[in-house]
Amino acid sequence: MRSTVYRCVPVLCVARLCLAQDPAAASAANPSTHVVVVHARMLIDGTSAQPRANQEILIQGDRITAVYAAGLRPPPPGAEILDLGTATVLPGLIDCHTHIFLQGEVPAAGGYDVQLLKFPASYRVARAVVAARRALEQGFTTIRDVETEGAGYGDVGVKQAINEGYIPGPRMFVSTRAISSTGGYNLEGYAPEIVVPKGAQLIDGPVEARKAAREQLDHGADWIKVYMTHRSWVDEQGGLVSQPTLTVEELRAIVDETHGWRKKVACHAYNGIGLQRALDGGCDSIEHGLELTDAQIAQMVKQGTWLVPTLAVYYHDPEPPDTPGGIRDRKRVAVHGVSFQKALRAGVKIAFGTDVGGFPWSEPIAQEFPRMVEFGMTPMQAIQAATSRGAELLGKRGELGTVAPGAYADLIAVAGDPLADVNALQNVAFVMKNGSVFRSTLRPAGN
Ligand SMILES: [Zn+2]
Repeated sequence: MRSTVYRCVPVLCVARLCLAQDPAAASAANPSTHVVVVHARMLIDGTSAQPRANQEILIQGDRITAVYAAGLRPPPPGAEILDLGTATVLPGLIDCHTHIFLQGEVPAAGGYDVQLLKFPASYRVARAVVAARRALEQGFTTIRDVETEGAGYGDVGVKQAINEGYIPGPRMFVSTRAISSTGGYNLEGYAPEIVVPKGAQLIDGPVEARKAAREQLDHGADWIKVYMTHRSWVDEQGGLVSQPTLTVEELRAIVDETHGWRKKVACHAYNGIGLQRALDGGCDSIEHGLELTDAQIAQMVKQGTWLVPTLAVYYHDPEPPDTPGGIRDRKRVAVHGVSFQKALRAGVKIAFGTDVGGFPWSEPIAQEFPRMVEFGMTPMQAIQAATSRGAELLGKRGELGTVAPGAYADLIAVAGDPLADVNALQNVAFVMKNGSVFRSTLRPAGN
C-alpha cells in the first residue's frame, strides 16, 4: 500500500533531529515542501471527546494539513511515512506554569536563596538550557515560563536560541522578571544593611507598577506575571492565611497596560485578600488558587478567569509535621484538592501547569496528570487541560494542542493507553515539534 515506509527507529530520528549547530542547516533540512505522513494506531487529538483508531496525519513543513482514516488517500509522492506502531499519538503537551531558571528548592541543596546568591548568571543560563531540553524530551512542546527568579531577561534569550535552532527546546511564552511589592518576594531575612537580589521586580504604587509592566513588555515579555500573595501560614482558628501584596489599584495599572499590548496577566494567588484583589483587578489566570471560596469560583466563571492549579508541587519537601511550616504545608495540600474539585464542578477553565523548577527538572513533569485525575478529572479532561485548553489560555486555539489541519505539527506518542492509565504520559517515546522529529525510543515495528 505504501511505497516508502520508514519505521521510526532511533537512527532515522537522530538524522532528522530538529537540533542543529547551524540554524540555516536546520531550515534546509526541513523545507516547507517536506511532506510526512504519520500513521497513528490510536489518536487522541486534544479536542475530541473520544480517541480515533487508525488515522493518518499529513504534515507539510511545520504544519498539519490533513487528518483522515488510514488508507483513505494514497500518500503524496515523495512523502516520508512514519508508522508509530502500536503507540498512542497525541498533540505535543503544554505546561502553562514552568520555571526553567529554577532548579528545585531542595533544602539540602541550599533551597531557593543559593540560586540567586551563589550561582553565576552563566551557570543559571546553562542549566535553563538543560531544563528546556528536558521539557521537550518529555513531550512538552510548548511551555509558558512564568518568571526567571532573579535571572532578569534570560528567558527571552533562551527562547530566541530555541526559535533560531541553536538549542533544542519547547515553544516558549516568557514572562521575564515578574512583579511583586516591597516585602512581597524573596530574598528576605537578611540584615537590612545588606542589599540582596530579589526574585521579582518590586514596585510600590500604580505608577511604578505600570512602569515595570512597560519595561518587561518592552524587553520581550509575552505574559506579565504578578505575585498577589506571598507568605502563608495557619492562624489560631486553623485557617490558611496568605499575606496580600499588590493593591487592586496597582494590579489594575498592570492589567490595563498589558491588555493594551494585547497580552495577558498571570497572577500567583493562594487565597484570601490577595486572591480577591487578583480577581477584582482583572487577572487573566490564577496560578495555584489553593483555597477558592464559592463566591470567588463564581467570579472566575463570570469573568472567564483561568485556573492553573499546579497540584503536585505541594507534595514536595514538606517541613516536619509538628512545626509551623509543616502544619502550613499540610493545610495547603488539604484545601487545594477541595478547591480544585469545586472549580472543576463549577466549570472554571482549567489549564495544566506544574511549577516544575519549584521541584527538580530531573523529576517527571507529567506527575501532575495523576493528581488531576485523583481530584476528579477524567484522563481525557486532564489531557485536554494540557493540550487544547492550554492552547486556549495562550491565545493559540487551533494552532497548538490539537491534531487538526492548520495546527503546528507538534506530536507525541506514548506506549499504552493514557485513557486507561494516565501515568502512561510519564513515558513519552516520540516527540515531533514543528514537523521535525526530536526524539524517538520506539522499537522498530515488527522486530
Ligand atoms: Zn511558579
